[in-house]
Amino acid sequence: MPRFFVTEDHIEGGRAYIDGGDYSHIANVLRMKKGEELTLSAGNGTDYFCSIEEVNKAEKRIELAVVGSWKSFSELPVKLYLFQGLPKADKMELIVQKAVELGAYAVVPVATERAVVKLDAKGREKKQARWQAISESAAKQAGRAVIPEVLPVMSFKEALEMAKGLGAIVMPYEKAEGMEFSRKAIKELHGAASAGIFIGPEGGFSEAEAKAAEEAGARIISLGKRILRTETAGMTVLSIIMFELEEDTAGNTDGNIS
Ligand code: SAM
Repeated sequence: MPRFFVTEDHIEGGRAYIDGGDYSHIANVLRMKKGEELTLSAGNGTDYFCSIEEVNKAEKRIELAVVGSWKSFSELPVKLYLFQGLPKADKMELIVQKAVELGAYAVVPVATERAVVKLDAKGREKKQARWQAISESAAKQAGRAVIPEVLPVMSFKEALEMAKGLGAIVMPYEKAEGMEFSRKAIKELHGAASAGIFIGPEGGFSEAEAKAAEEAGARIISLGKRILRTETAGMTVLSIIMFELEEDTAGNTDGNIS
């Protein structure tokens, strides 16, 4: 069923509406008609099952009746913030897309010591907008209840400060050893409200960065005996965490509507 994202003010008292770019997509590309159904997400963790009441061409609005709503089952129980060392070229686009599919709650680009990509203010703004658009498209495709935010590029120091406010910090570090400790660190994420995951760029983390993270309470973990590319490492650790944390709540795919 098609899924669209609106802000909460678009949904009130059993009715909802879609306008803007999604109006055109529904009316002119999908050519959806009165009576057809779609799912709305307002980024508040609730999914709204809706039926089209009217395709209002004059006001360019899709008028909807909210038939039912339920707590979205597509979000992980822990808000995962991926702090990604700025990678070369367009790798960040792939990293954002995969992080969203795997359930990340936000992506934070980090200008670490060894990140070779240097972006000026204008470049950062342009890239952030591009990455946010990729997040929205991946969220729709994956059936997410929220559109993960791609935050502005920040320094490692700023990123660590932000991460200290989260429930846990995990840093896969290329020099870390011992898979038992890694497994334990991942299991300890159960029950956390949120967690920060730090991935270095192609050049990895500096010793100082790893030390600062450890002093901030990060679990420094190994992802195995092979060196993974930066774009592989984020996906790997997110997959492992997703697999560990994903709940067995049956989705409402059987249509039982509250
Ligand atoms: N320049 C580093 C080197 O040659 O050792 C490799 C850095 S790797 C390309 C980029 C990031 O992926 C690392 O900073 C780390 O966060 C993560 N990573 C890659 N392989 C890893 C592993 N086996 N264990 C833990 N983290 C790993």
